[in-house]
Amino acid sequence: MSAMGDRDLLMIPGPIELEPNVLAAMGEKQRGHLDPVFMKRFSRVLKRLREVFRAPSAQPFVLAGSGTLAMELAVANLVQPGDAALVINTGFFSDRMALALTRHGAIVTQVKAAPGEVPPLEEVAHALAQGPFKVMTITHVDTSTGVLTPVQQLAAMAREAGVLCIVDGVCSVGAEALEQESWGIDVALTGSQKALGAPPGLAVVSAGPKAIEAYRARTQPVRSLYLDFGEWLPVHEAYEAEKPSYFATPPVNLISALDVSLGLILDEGMPARFARHVRMANAMQAAWKALKLKALPTNDGLVAHTLSALYYPPGVDAALVKAVAAQGITIAGGLHPELKAKYFRVGHMGSVSANDVLATVAAVERALLASKHLVEPGSGVAAAERALG
Ligand code: PMP
Repeated sequence: MSAMGDRDLLMIPGPIELEPNVLAAMGEKQRGHLDPVFMKRFSRVLKRLREVFRAPSAQPFVLAGSGTLAMELAVANLVQPGDAALVINTGFFSDRMALALTRHGAIVTQVKAAPGEVPPLEEVAHALAQGPFKVMTITHVDTSTGVLTPVQQLAAMAREAGVLCIVDGVCSVGAEALEQESWGIDVALTGSQKALGAPPGLAVVSAGPKAIEAYRARTQPVRSLYLDFGEWLPVHEAYEAEKPSYFATPPVNLISALDVSLGLILDEGMPARFARHVRMANAMQAAWKALKLKALPTNDGLVAHTLSALYYPPGVDAALVKAVAAQGITIAGGLHPELKAKYFRVGHMGSVSANDVLATVAAVERALLASKHLVEPGSGVAAAERALG
């Protein structure tokens, strides 16, 4: 920790800095899970999630758990042992999706991209033609590479092929443009700790009508009780109607915090929120270029707007992350198993502001200067300022 203590800035790709009123909801008096005040909030959360996912016909699920649980919830309910699944693999979290599918008995085929790339659409089309597949999975932003996957085109290809489409939006929902319903995405999922702007602890899944239909058409029960849509559906329907119902105790304060955060997100408006993330990301990218830092994504069109993944320049290593932390700004090291020690990551999602961007760029710039990486003092900050306009 730096001398700044509580004023440190958390700039990792989740969890993120939270708005004070979101945090305040965590410290509220403990209410029961059937308290009318809480039922009202849970109801509002479900309605608000339909707006955030842009999926008016979908059923949102909010369960205690992390993003990985959200992935497993999608997989466990849509896949039966022996079903064929196609994974569009862009890195660490696509590997995890393949693992979850395998654990639930799916026969997995993968179309893999090199780190920093996405598979060519022709390769995906070719793989789909070898089907039939029950599901296809896409990682919208793979947090291990900072690559943004063309979800709209891929989801259209899945729909065309009659394959259910699952999108891991853990590092995208609430920040990257995502139109679940009009893009034909059957399940989109995330965790509370990223661009939804709440603390970690909630698995959030939005299941469209075809996904619920596929669940109902199962011939075998879901093996896990906790993951079974059938247990959660009546409870979520009851909460939405503000009626008492119980399957397993919901994390009351976390859901209250999510309610506050979703309110802020919708006050900003989804198009404005997407545009702000693009603006902040463009300023970051301009700064990184000025500082001669090479991005993991192999071309500018693949760069996500929620985080930057950057190679350490020659002569610089993971000590850079510590040097930035010493200035009161927390950034993250690498994650992709093949490149882990070679790069670092900066998160810029949620209520990230121009000030956050400038402070972060300045801290990275100063750490680079101290490490003898030759950059012009102020060049990163100037580039970010110019990009911010
Ligand atoms: N998918 C993606 C794209 C992620 O970024 C993460 C978390 N970094 C996960 C899944 C897993 O989420 P969690 O750590 O909350 O289980």
